[in-house]
Amino acid sequence: MQGVTSNDFSSARHTPRHDLESSPAATVSAGPGPGPTPADLLRRLRARGAGDPVTHVERVPARAGVPAPWPSWAPAELRAAFAKRGVVAPWQHQAEAANLAYEGQHVIVATGTASGKSLAYQMPALSTLRADPRATVLYLAPTKALAADQLRAVAALELEGVRPACYDGDTPRAEREWIRRHSRFVLTNPDMLHHGILPGHAQWSGFLRRLAYVVIDECHTYRGVFGSHVAHVLRRLRRQCARFGATPVFVLASATSGDPATAAGRLTGLPVTAVTEDASPRGGVTFALWEPPLLPPDTGTGSPVPPQATGEHDDLHQVRRSALRETADLLADTVAEGVRTLAFVRSRKGAEVVAANARRSLDDAVPGLGDRVAAYRGGYLREERRELERALLHGDLLGLASTNALELGVDLIGLDAVLICGYPGTRASLWQQAGRAGRSGQEALAVLVARDDPLDTYLVHHPEAIFGAPVEATVLDPANPYVLAPQLACAAAEAPLTPADLVLFGDGAKEAVDQLVAAGALRQRPTGWYWRHRERPEVDLRGEGGAPVCVVESSTGRLLGTVDGGSSHFLLHPGAVYLHQGVSYVVDDLDLADGCALVHVEEPDWSTHARDVTDLSVVSVRSYVDAGPVGMFLGEVDVTSQVVSYQRRRIATGEVIDTRPLDLPARELRTVAVWFTLSPRSLTLAGVQPADVPGALHAAEHAAIGLLPLMATCDRWDIGGLSTAVHPDTEAPTVFVYDGHPGGAGFAERAYGTASAWLRATRDAIAECGCETGCPSCVQSPKCGNGNNPLSKPDAIRVLDVVLANLPG
Ligand SMILES: [Zn+2]
Ligand SMILES: [Zn+2]
Repeated sequence: MQGVTSNDFSSARHTPRHDLESSPAATVSAGPGPGPTPADLLRRLRARGAGDPVTHVERVPARAGVPAPWPSWAPAELRAAFAKRGVVAPWQHQAEAANLAYEGQHVIVATGTASGKSLAYQMPALSTLRADPRATVLYLAPTKALAADQLRAVAALELEGVRPACYDGDTPRAEREWIRRHSRFVLTNPDMLHHGILPGHAQWSGFLRRLAYVVIDECHTYRGVFGSHVAHVLRRLRRQCARFGATPVFVLASATSGDPATAAGRLTGLPVTAVTEDASPRGGVTFALWEPPLLPPDTGTGSPVPPQATGEHDDLHQVRRSALRETADLLADTVAEGVRTLAFVRSRKGAEVVAANARRSLDDAVPGLGDRVAAYRGGYLREERRELERALLHGDLLGLASTNALELGVDLIGLDAVLICGYPGTRASLWQQAGRAGRSGQEALAVLVARDDPLDTYLVHHPEAIFGAPVEATVLDPANPYVLAPQLACAAAEAPLTPADLVLFGDGAKEAVDQLVAAGALRQRPTGWYWRHRERPEVDLRGEGGAPVCVVESSTGRLLGTVDGGSSHFLLHPGAVYLHQGVSYVVDDLDLADGCALVHVEEPDWSTHARDVTDLSVVSVRSYVDAGPVGMFLGEVDVTSQVVSYQRRRIATGEVIDTRPLDLPARELRTVAVWFTLSPRSLTLAGVQPADVPGALHAAEHAAIGLLPLMATCDRWDIGGLSTAVHPDTEAPTVFVYDGHPGGAGFAERAYGTASAWLRATRDAIAECGCETGCPSCVQSPKCGNGNNPLSKPDAIRVLDVVLANLPG
């Protein structure tokens, strides 16, 4: 929902331009004066080093908008209110989606950043509220910040009797009752719907009974396990509405995504029509793919550049110049040119390092200039984040290094340059991040800096995989029993479940209910299934990684930020070096029971890198393909993993100082995996010596994990792998790739469904990598529990050739 819906970019009649979806702050976002053109800027950036790091430049042309007439049903008063905000007429896609929704069809509008998706639901929703003085609308956003922003936009229309209000964890108790009784446009998030509104349905009956529309904004964020939970929260909402006689129309807004109608259907359980043709105007973007150069094998002496400041990968043999250092330099250069730049960095540590390094180089050039750059990420406190956004919008800051787009305020668009440090995992997020660049009528620059990993390397050498391919489908799996059972418990606690409800909740619901009965959670009576306890079930929609861990400075008691539970063993183990706003801390103690890590300020000259060990056993096989010497399987597995040690590495050289043991509990995971087996004989025939089989499988496993995000909306941190020359459960050489979430999130299933395309891309990525013996761009993995040993690059290609030669299609 970032964005601009103003229809007359070229007209001087509306100055300052009022963006329907942006706050007054955004209209002050003019920033510094005109800088260099994107082409000039790119020329200067690529002329800096020895070789040319740019592998491809794509001109994404400016696009003229296609306006459409106002729908005849939109009341004059509403059109006038929009006109006052600068919207003369809707764009084609807005009108099309609005018409469908008004006719009562469930619709998803899936178009680019700043394409004005909100108008598509505001038109039918607000028209209906004006036409029917009793009707109500429920709006869901993935974050409180986005809901607050939408509230401002709706309130600014000043429509009588709508009384829009946010209802979330921040809403004062005193206001809640008023909102339930009087607001007709309630803005909330799935967590509040799950924890507050649905359990309190009796108090909400008046609102739900009259519910005309449910708006689901940024619905592509509901993916994986979280998405599967939200899918059932929406089914619970539909069930409550039905009990009160309401059948609301669902209007969904999504970033551009593959097959949005199917994903929206899975999310809501309803047939949904998709509108995907983006008719909004767009400024041109010069999009460069940038591959940092390979460093000489003897790194550390041959180059003034430290290979790794954050240790996001193992630097055994040949490495590329780190994407973080490269991005930091690019950020410093663009800021020095007066260009307002946002750098997206995948990891928390990475964003801190990019900001710190850019600040340092700028200060070296012009003392004080470094103050124009800052770091920004989700773990910061809200006040810190809003202050940084304000500073960038007003031009006090020129450069910001940030983690992901969703944490950013929706007003933060119209930047002159966007640097993307490492492929963000999906083309959908790539376009969303790049979409922050470009003000109306002005060209902007976007640069994707490849990280040293197989997927990034593949992409910068296959620009068609970025610019010529559709964006990925959003993957979620409502049938995940680890999601379905607790959600059915929640539903039963809200009202007894009936056989009809089991149809609503879909595949596996009956089995899940039987299990809940057997476990004593539900009681079966002739009228249905009843929740047996007084307390409601405790279910956290986002709880897959465990509760967030607070980072507290021991000497002052100050809360520095939070880290999600799943990463805490890796990032906050005792002895870990933790960065916050460029300040380095060392962890004294990780208290898992209290969910808190105690740290003190210290800046050692090493970084820390946690290692884990993994064990896997097959529980059951769901589906398999028998392809002669090759078998491809999908099934349930049990994975046990434990962070057991960490390495300390010299920041300047990457040299390993020592490895220290850790005493952290193992974590168990029942999940879904895809795996393939090969007969030992087929490997021998392909020229893989028995002694090289472990290295061949291990290398293939790493690259396959690295390339899976091409097929599904996951990133490599969502999935794990294991390979072995003989696995006790398969009795053959085997490579496993598993979902990193209990019960699976649909990623392994997707991998199984696209196995040949996935493994073909994996094979090509390895074969096309310029290194000799394997590098982080092909077969090394940043999260390998075995220190990337053994690995055999040539044999990995042979393994994959055998699989591809036998696997059908
Ligand atoms: Zn390589
Ligand atoms: Zn490994």
